Amino acid sequence: MTEYGDGTRSAHAGLPPAVPGEPFLPGPVFAAPYHLDPAVGPAASPNGYGRPDNQTRRLLEAAIGSLEGGSTLAFASGQAAVTAVLLSTLRPGDTVVLPADGYYPVRGFATSTLAELGVTAVFAPTAGPAPDYTGVRLVLLETPANPGLDVCDVAALAARARAAGALLAVDNTAATPLGQRPLDLGADIALASGTKALTGHSDLLLGYVATRSPELLASLTSWRATTGSIPGAFDAWLAHRSLFTLDLRLARQSANAAAVVAALAERPDVTGLRWPGRPGDPAFEVASRQMRRIPGVVGFDLGSASRVARFLAASRLVAAATSFGGVHTSADRREQWGDDTAPGFVRLSCGIEDAADLVADITAALDAAA
Ligand SMILES: *Cc1c(COP(=O)(O)O)cnc(C)c1O
Repeated sequence: MTEYGDGTRSAHAGLPPAVPGEPFLPGPVFAAPYHLDPAVGPAASPNGYGRPDNQTRRLLEAAIGSLEGGSTLAFASGQAAVTAVLLSTLRPGDTVVLPADGYYPVRGFATSTLAELGVTAVFAPTAGPAPDYTGVRLVLLETPANPGLDVCDVAALAARARAAGALLAVDNTAATPLGQRPLDLGADIALASGTKALTGHSDLLLGYVATRSPELLASLTSWRATTGSIPGAFDAWLAHRSLFTLDLRLARQSANAAAVVAALAERPDVTGLRWPGRPGDPAFEVASRQMRRIPGVVGFDLGSASRVARFLAASRLVAAATSFGGVHTSADRREQWGDDTAPGFVRLSCGIEDAADLVADITAALDAAA
């Protein structure tokens, strides 16, 4: 369906063929074992046991796969997807390049579990310079990076990885497949947390891995079946239902971020403003070339933890919450989670409220927190 626009592709993603009397999106199928053909056994049906087989999950995977442009496996969470990629590709003695400024539990996993398994992790800043990939087995990029919002050139780094014989994976959580398609840019793997903007309703955890390589798909499928990190049928169905509005939600979130950024840029009490869609932002040039739309996530510094707390207490529309990409505007002081950021650094995730309401609320809350 790549000839269609984003709204059409989102609304129709993964829908089964129309059958009179059947729903548009079949409800969740809850099954551990399925009935087997007594004579033929599991070969008679695609559904034998719920860990490898579930029709609700397969429809979601078809939907995400149509947006990412690759065969897709859904996982129980974004972290389950990241660790599936790391553990199914890396072996003792291997070297992996990871973002120095990306989702911080990935760094923790590298310095604990991966180190214990004899895998060497090299941490590289998303904004560059990229290290030499010689002898590297896997490069993981995260662009835009969470929470700093730096951006890297996926196509250029994919070419470098290929020349060095390394696999390249891209964490596409912040961008979503409507923002960029890493597989089109030369990545071997696109992965993401579907907990964030992809599903956008702050009511489920989900991850996925997409690839065009039959070998990687086979090893990831076997990894998931044996480790069991699958999403439940209800979460898979909720996620699929949420995908139909992806284009609408992202468009409003991005427009709201542009309005909020314009207001924040006027304020001397807000420093370190970051948004890849803002001319002059260090990420603007690469993001404009590479991305089809800019996420609704904004970074800035209010100088201290107490000022952030006063800002959040004074706001009526900005919820204090971690995660991002939801339909409700939220803000998180990342340092409180142990992320390596300044105490006053805020990651603001714009929801789908009216821009004028959001700008007025944030302006008043900042005034009150002064
Ligand atoms: C949240 C996040 C993850 C982990 O996803 P969960 O669904 O919370 O497990 C991975 N990568 C990035 C960039 C994230 O923001």
